[in-house]
Amino acid sequence: MADASDEHRLNPRLRRSPRPVIDPAALARSIRAGDRVALAQGITLIESEKPEDWERGAELLQALRSEDPQPVLRVGISGTPGVGKSTFVEAIGNWLIDRGQRVAVLAVDPSSERTGGSILGDKTRMERLAGRPEAFIRPSPTAGYLGGVARASRETAQLCAAAGYDCILVETVGVGQSETAVAQLVDCFLLLLQPGAGDELQGIKRGIVEMADILLINKAEGENRPAAERARSEYRNALHLFPPQPGGWSPPVALVSARTGEGIEESWSLVEDFHRQASETGNFVLKRREQARYWLDAQLREAIYRRFARTGTGRDRFEELEAAVLAGELATRLAVMRLLNERET
Ligand code: GDP
Repeated sequence: MADASDEHRLNPRLRRSPRPVIDPAALARSIRAGDRVALAQGITLIESEKPEDWERGAELLQALRSEDPQPVLRVGISGTPGVGKSTFVEAIGNWLIDRGQRVAVLAVDPSSERTGGSILGDKTRMERLAGRPEAFIRPSPTAGYLGGVARASRETAQLCAAAGYDCILVETVGVGQSETAVAQLVDCFLLLLQPGAGDELQGIKRGIVEMADILLINKAEGENRPAAERARSEYRNALHLFPPQPGGWSPPVALVSARTGEGIEESWSLVEDFHRQASETGNFVLKRREQARYWLDAQLREAIYRRFARTGTGRDRFEELEAAVLAGELATRLAVMRLLNERET
């Protein structure tokens, strides 16, 4: 009976060749030249946690780093599920493309599975945008711990900037924690809200409102309009209670309808106002520097953790020491020292 290997032998076209190892420098050149396949390959490489990919991914990022004093703007879009994030991204993405821009859309969803129906997993939610050559849509990296997913998204944004996209939109799943991570990788943070979902902060954590640079009340068309206007005044009042942002920016609250397109242009001009102000006050550069510091720290922790606690033989030893710590047999500090000292084995 012919098994799979026979089939491969009999039909040379089915013969499986090992995945070609792409030279990071060549990949970087293709990405800069705007090759979408190369961009997708590059993203897959930097998302990979395999040790052999890790180093090549680092070379790729090094080759593609930007010293441009006017870096490509990254805009985060957040809000509870159902508020209209995907519809908004579809609307504003098409609007930007109609004005000659090339737009990359990324998702940060630590709960996602590539095959699942998570945000952006189902491209039909952004049907028109997905079909346009000026758009690049990338679903969230596969489910994992939030820090790793956000790290990959930040690096993906760097790749998209090198590939010549003029603007990067980063959509979050909108369930709390992911917003904090996304705030560390975008320049401007938009929070979508909807009218009539409650008279106060709609279960959105105060901390998330505090992170927002611009608040947009979505679904503000037709009969929803009066409720949207009420929500706008409530948020404007609530924002007075928050401490002012660096550089004196006070987050505006505006109305939008992602469905009809009303307010899309105004929303983008608020983003531009924010960008201009942040550039003039030096806050743009300052924020990027603070983010770089955050990621250096976060990635160092991630690397240490991956090295000692998450991989094959390291994990066995980690679990052994962990058991000893939990049983009270070993001081925590001693367990950490032992792990660090054994790192070469
Ligand atoms: P997400 O979960 O935040 O990405 O929300 P979606 O973009 O999937 O939208 C959730 C629902 O709200 C969908 O049924 C949309 O059609 C609807 N929706 C989105 N934007 C608007 C809008 O501006 N007006 C109205 N009336 N419905 C909207």
